Amino acid sequence: MQFLVAVILPLTTLAQQYGTCTARNGRGGECINTKTCANSGGTSDPANLCPGDNSIQCCTYGTCKNSKGVTGICQPTSTCKGSSDPANLCPGGNHIQCCTVGSTPTGPGTSKPINTMLTGLADILRGAGLKVVEVAGWKTRGHGVMASVKGIIVHHTAGSSTGDYPSLATVRDGTSGLAGPIAQLGLGRSGTWFVIAAGRSYHAGNTLDDSIYGNNNAIGIEAEGVGLPATDSGHAHWPEVQYQSYVKGVKALQKAYGVPTARVLGHKEAAVPKGRKIDPNFSMAEFRAKLG
Ligand SMILES: [Zn+2]
Repeated sequence: MQFLVAVILPLTTLAQQYGTCTARNGRGGECINTKTCANSGGTSDPANLCPGDNSIQCCTYGTCKNSKGVTGICQPTSTCKGSSDPANLCPGGNHIQCCTVGSTPTGPGTSKPINTMLTGLADILRGAGLKVVEVAGWKTRGHGVMASVKGIIVHHTAGSSTGDYPSLATVRDGTSGLAGPIAQLGLGRSGTWFVIAAGRSYHAGNTLDDSIYGNNNAIGIEAEGVGLPATDSGHAHWPEVQYQSYVKGVKALQKAYGVPTARVLGHKEAAVPKGRKIDPNFSMAEFRAKLG
């Protein structure tokens, strides 16, 4: 529908006609002209997240404090999963308001972390008998706090074919196009867990439901793997010790945060549009069956 509108309107009237989006930084934004975005102090995400030509990109805004002094993000009211403060606290039009989330406990989690760093991650995994490496600085690393833990997203790194966890630097520090951390947890080929960040990490991108699977609300696990063969079936192409550790670690996280198995998704299942991601390259049905 939005696409049709875009096609029949003259270009000059399109600034507000492309709707909302979620940028790779996990923030809700609006698809507008990059210059209009810059003029409002916003940041345009060059990934192909919006209809229209390259001049129309997903524009997100910075952080804010609402009238009660709670830190939030300036974003379109329709993308706010918490409450939008109508006071004039953000750049742009009235539809861009200071959005704060997590003021009340949500989701099925037993420990229900709210707007906090997940500083218990290492202990949770160690408590399950897993080998854990705490990466220096992890307790304070993240793009802000986690709003909650309602989902767990299972990834593979598509990294180098040698070494236990050669993707560590990338997952911790990011890439030229995406700032790290890009997941809270890493899983080496030996089954060793790497605890990388306690805060929000840029692993999910656009999802089926960002209030469960978005970066604010889902833990991301990047397991080392070359990503081949590109298949949905079985797990025979994964080292058994790594696969069993994956199952055990996710189980421990589910128990700690009360995440039901139905909310443990592969990135390929959570990502929208469908087909945007292929990871992990094992059967998620089999994986969830093992979680019980
Ligand atoms: Zn992924």
